[in-house]
Amino acid sequence: MSNSDRLIHATAADATVRALAVDSTNLVAEACRRHGTAPTTSAAFGRLLSGALLIGRTYKDLDRLTLQVRGDGPVGAIVAESTAHGTVRGYVRNPEADAPPNRLGKLDVKSIVLGDGQGMLHVIREAGYEIGLAREPYYGSVPLVSGEIAEDIAHYLVTSEQINSAISLGVFIEPEEGRAIAAGGFLIQAMPGITEETIAALERSVSQMPHVTQVLRNSPGPEALLQMALGELGFEVLEEMPVEFRCTCSFERAVNIISALDRAEVEDMLEKDKGAEMTCHFCNEVYFLNEEVLENILAPPPVM
Ligand code: ZN
Repeated sequence: MSNSDRLIHATAADATVRALAVDSTNLVAEACRRHGTAPTTSAAFGRLLSGALLIGRTYKDLDRLTLQVRGDGPVGAIVAESTAHGTVRGYVRNPEADAPPNRLGKLDVKSIVLGDGQGMLHVIREAGYEIGLAREPYYGSVPLVSGEIAEDIAHYLVTSEQINSAISLGVFIEPEEGRAIAAGGFLIQAMPGITEETIAALERSVSQMPHVTQVLRNSPGPEALLQMALGELGFEVLEEMPVEFRCTCSFERAVNIISALDRAEVEDMLEKDKGAEMTCHFCNEVYFLNEEVLENILAPPPVM
């Protein structure tokens, strides 16, 4: 499958509209494969990963954005973390959570997120640490209003950041194998100076367009999403970037973590398990530190 995973950032109506769209098909499929998610969880997870990429690009000086959905439903918690470089990673508490289709015949994301209860959307924004000027992270949270993810993110944007937004996120799961074959979304924001005519035009075009995954299956890539969402307004692309699922873990980091443990603990691993196995909860990569690596940790080379 060719990789059409891209994000575009555009402007319309004399800069009174900000619009972003992402085709995240391949990265959502990879995230779901890594975590072994059931179809309904794949839909919820894929929507949050795509949402984190879109929202992340709306902040000028952002390094890292974390979205956490925590509800009373069986999936438990869903976490997505995006960076300014177009990478995203994440995990779900209970990847096997699944549900029968809802009354519209769609994957019932709400039921695995909320169950019969409630939930919260937590947002963490970090900036400055890549240039050594780490600022206090920003924390925001709002109650989940729908459990379907996109509406919850829109609610957060309007209540916490006072930005009126239309956001649509979708993941299409191929019914036979349960694999994500289309994923992505768009975000449209009203900027200062927006006119009533522009708002009316947006409401028309957004309400008339087909579902996100239908658009992506017909024409992969983010452009068609904005063409349809913005309709007669048209748009000008300001920025375009590839996006991917990428984690920051590595074998070296695994060694550093074990090196920081008590000596007795490392000796115990060497003696009992003949090694140490570590699994990254963000990407499910397994690192195995063999006896030789553990011996080196216990007996570092002499300082010259
Ligand atoms: Zn990882």
